[in-house]
Amino acid sequence: MAYETLKQEIIEYSKQIGIDKIGFASVDEFSELKSRLKLQQESGFQSGFEKGTIEERTQPVRLMPEAQSIIAIALAYPSRMKNPPKSVKGDRRGVFARASWGKDYHHVLRDKLEKLGKFLEAKLDGFEYKPMVDTGELSDRAVAERAGIGFSGKNCAIITPEFGSYVYLGEMITNVPFPPDQPISEEEGCGECTKCIDSCPTGALVEGGRLNSQKCLAFLTQTKGFLPDEYRGKIGNHLYGFDTCQVVCPKNKNVDFHNHPEFEPDPELVKPRLMPLLTISNKEFKAKFGYMAGSWRGKKPLQRNAILALAHYKEESAVDQLIELMEKDPRPVIRGTAAWAIGKIGTKEGFAAIERVRQKEKDEDVLKEMEKGLQFQPV
Ligand code: SF4
Repeated sequence: MAYETLKQEIIEYSKQIGIDKIGFASVDEFSELKSRLKLQQESGFQSGFEKGTIEERTQPVRLMPEAQSIIAIALAYPSRMKNPPKSVKGDRRGVFARASWGKDYHHVLRDKLEKLGKFLEAKLDGFEYKPMVDTGELSDRAVAERAGIGFSGKNCAIITPEFGSYVYLGEMITNVPFPPDQPISEEEGCGECTKCIDSCPTGALVEGGRLNSQKCLAFLTQTKGFLPDEYRGKIGNHLYGFDTCQVVCPKNKNVDFHNHPEFEPDPELVKPRLMPLLTISNKEFKAKFGYMAGSWRGKKPLQRNAILALAHYKEESAVDQLIELMEKDPRPVIRGTAAWAIGKIGTKEGFAAIERVRQKEKDEDVLKEMEKGLQFQPV
């Protein structure tokens, strides 16, 4: 079988099914990644969302013993939306990062990979493949880099020459020895630029290309507990994700691709009103936000972030609703965050409510947040 010819057929087919970029990589061990992952582990920089052992994450043959190549794909997503609604006093809005605009990309890319798989199954007897998008063991970025999709930026994103870093990545391990592509040359890289490192509000980008997930606001928006105090003033109105390190990147200047209707944002959903989000039912949440990547952790982290966004805006019109949450919400994280936010907004009525409600609050963590809220009181 002429694998080079088949490779060209796949490239052609990939265009027909809307894959913006495709590349081929060997299944050699990702040894540089292995050292980096070990360092991340030793430094405590992992997010906790990682899947598999370091060996599984760096040795494709551990995931598929007959592995012979990896096919990497990229789909571009938009960076700008038409007519974004304004966040105004009395009607504040939060924001979802671009990677959560439109339909959850995991499904879209998985569907493309399945199509590629079926195409190859029809051509090759005994063809086998293992697709992955974001949540698999392999590092999508390391695979994409090796397959020549893009280079790895100091912001830890893969930057393609065509679509900047606004791309979703996925891959499939196959049992076919497709000829590999070459990684992108070093000259295409970041050079002396350090814009992303300089503009990260929490200093999460440690040196170029290393991320301390524990400090990364994109990661922190997805946690379910109380947001650590030092990040509460930095999260702004971000409900899910944080893409400043991509926005400031010169490689993304004027990059805005609308190749896929699935990724078009609904402005009302990706910049939703904050106050209705605080009381949304599970059913309504699922119906409205369930198809977005940003809903994968459920509504609690988004509601916690919405409360912090109202505090960020010092939105006095939200105080009554926040008092209600502080008093009645069954979830300590929501009660406590509401108490802190009420204090931060700083109305007389709010401070009085914290004093009143804390008389009956039993949860230690919530009581601590109430204390913190009261500390905003002018002396
Ligand atoms: Fe590289 Fe500069 Fe972009 Fe950071 S902002 S990824 S340093 S080009």
